[in-house]
Amino acid sequence: MSDSPLRHIPSVNELLENPLIRQLTERFSHRLVVGRVRSFLDGLRDDFQSAAAEIRIPTPTDLARKIADWIIVDQQPGLRPVINGTGTLLHTGLGRAPLSEVALQEMVQVARGYCSLEIDLRSGERSRRSAHVERQLIDLTGAEAALVVNNNAAATVLALSALAAGQEVIVSRGQLVEIGGSYRLPEVMNASGCHLREVGTTNRTCSEDYEKAITDQTRVLLRVHPSNYAVVGFTESVDIRTMARIAHDRGLVAVDDIGSGVLLASDELRAPGEPVARESIAAGADLVLFSGDKLLGGPQCGIIVGRKQYVEMLARHPLSRALRVGKLTLAALAATLRLYQKPDELSQHLPLWGLLSTKLENIKHRADRLAPQIASSRVVRSAEVVADKSPVGGGSLPNEDVPTWCVAIEPRDERCDQLAQRLRLSDPSLMTRVAQDRVRLDLRTVFPHQDMEISQLFAGLSEANVRSTDPAP
Ligand SMILES: *Cc1c(COP(=O)(O)O)cnc(C)c1O
Repeated sequence: MSDSPLRHIPSVNELLENPLIRQLTERFSHRLVVGRVRSFLDGLRDDFQSAAAEIRIPTPTDLARKIADWIIVDQQPGLRPVINGTGTLLHTGLGRAPLSEVALQEMVQVARGYCSLEIDLRSGERSRRSAHVERQLIDLTGAEAALVVNNNAAATVLALSALAAGQEVIVSRGQLVEIGGSYRLPEVMNASGCHLREVGTTNRTCSEDYEKAITDQTRVLLRVHPSNYAVVGFTESVDIRTMARIAHDRGLVAVDDIGSGVLLASDELRAPGEPVARESIAAGADLVLFSGDKLLGGPQCGIIVGRKQYVEMLARHPLSRALRVGKLTLAALAATLRLYQKPDELSQHLPLWGLLSTKLENIKHRADRLAPQIASSRVVRSAEVVADKSPVGGGSLPNEDVPTWCVAIEPRDERCDQLAQRLRLSDPSLMTRVAQDRVRLDLRTVFPHQDMEISQLFAGLSEANVRSTDPAP
């Protein structure tokens, strides 16, 4: 035991003398740094004892650098910017749509001081907070009225609670969607106090299915856009025009959850198959529901447009107070919607559309330039440019993967998931996807100004090593 590597581990006090660590006691507190150094060393001793062989003893300087890096990473805010190298354009885990510059500016302006959130400046009287965007939403969709809530799930809960609590809502079996774990339509229906009446089959539902299912308990016919999957092959579904006609013949309400919130006709957005809010209203839907942070390119919110009488019922419902949005959201949404007045310039101003419409040869060109820079990092064995497909994500365009180019990275001395974790914990943080034994960096979702940061990030990574990430104190 006398030759145990443990004896070569420096003491807490020795490490605190190291300039790298000493600097940190000025930046953070002395107490915090001492605690972290101690728990790092404890973790290190445990590792040596359990793994024995194979483990190199870091020099005191190396050790100080690793501990310092670890403390810095640990002290970064949990919620922070990430470079999206996953290729998923609408990544719910990464906050969906990046906001436009004007949206950011308007958020900052209303955030800094007081604002006219619920005041009509003309009369000085109280007004409804979504009044600031209602006019724009009405113009963009042709609806009579509009309301904004926290997200599309909230819009659905509010619509169903206000219109059909204790009564029946009819939905096609082909549309009982789950959108990422916590949003499953049957459960949302339950939470709203409605009874779900499923009709048709998974692949086929026809108008008679709706007609036969209607009873005196029925209040709403709901269509849900199957956002993140597609039913293909031998299929039949009822379009919103037919559904609305059936609803109106029987005195019922037709509600259309269109999901991603496309405001312009499909040819303008190159979003084939995504329902357009204006078209749904024109086809007779009484209420149309969609998200603000999917293809619309705005902040997280749920937008409700439709007939005034129903929008008013929702606005008066007690839940609408619990589901309302804040001033930052309204400022960002108003600014985003204003951009829609000039559809030709949208790809220039909406970052999401910019990414979606980046030319494939531009992406290839950037990948070609970045790959050798990444390959020269000491943690990388090889980096190759490969063609791939990016999923749009966020429950949009399930069949419309976008062509892209990736840098496929082979780590030198660690597994792909280990390198991927180190990239996530770097500053700036970089998210990639691991596939086919490579760490894939998809440039479809990387903004061009971030290429340099990525190159520097790889250059700054130190060799893979047992204690490269968190030592789990
Ligand atoms: C994404 C989606 C939802 C949920 O919207 P959030 O804004 O995430 O709450 C509901 N319905 C459909 C059809 C969707 O695509």
